[in-house]
Amino acid sequence: MTTTALVLFSAGQDSATCLAWALDQCERVETIGFFYGQRHAVEMTQRAPLRDAIAALRPSWTPKLGGDRIVDIAGYGALAESALTSDRAIEFEASGLPSTFVPGRNLVFLSIAAAHAYRIGADTLIGGMCETDYSGYPDCRRDTLDAMQRALSLGLDREIDVQTPLMHLSKAQTWSLAHDLGGDSLVDVIVEQSHTCYEGDRTQRHDWGYGCGACPACDLRAKGWAQWRAK
Ligand code: ZN
Repeated sequence: MTTTALVLFSAGQDSATCLAWALDQCERVETIGFFYGQRHAVEMTQRAPLRDAIAALRPSWTPKLGGDRIVDIAGYGALAESALTSDRAIEFEASGLPSTFVPGRNLVFLSIAAAHAYRIGADTLIGGMCETDYSGYPDCRRDTLDAMQRALSLGLDREIDVQTPLMHLSKAQTWSLAHDLGGDSLVDVIVEQSHTCYEGDRTQRHDWGYGCGACPACDLRAKGWAQWRAK
């Protein structure tokens, strides 16, 4: 496949699976993440151990993993204030979208990632956006990302490929993909090191990993795990 890929890496289950997928498919892989005023720093502290643990799983993956970059866009987070970046409760709003929706988040992430990709000579952006399982964030839809891919390619005057390997997978299928890529050891690394919980809770360990067990992100992760294990 491609030469160099830049993975949008939040240290969650989805982006961890994307990182393994990229290491399997691409010749060189770097990661980028964003601080946009999240309520919890957990995602930031889990990045390095999760990246290192995934890359260490296969001898062919280890040398492919390059640098990690965190970009501070807290100003954007303040503009686009949501339950992820404030103390507002996580609930559904009149628009039908959850209060965790950060307007335009993936468009902003991809624009910044594309700028970094341009500098490091990467031609592919990889993200864990998924339109199957979740609450219909409009910037996770493939239609949106097709338009974004075209806008970035035109705007940079360079072909930028936006790959979304999880787009049509359920959360159970995402666990299954991780297992296909790296077996039980990758699943174990994702359970142990990735972080999904909106509440930033790493005090409670479940069979699917750490989290409060009650927020929408934990709920989704727990259900997907249970479905996958049932098979
Ligand atoms: Zn939670």
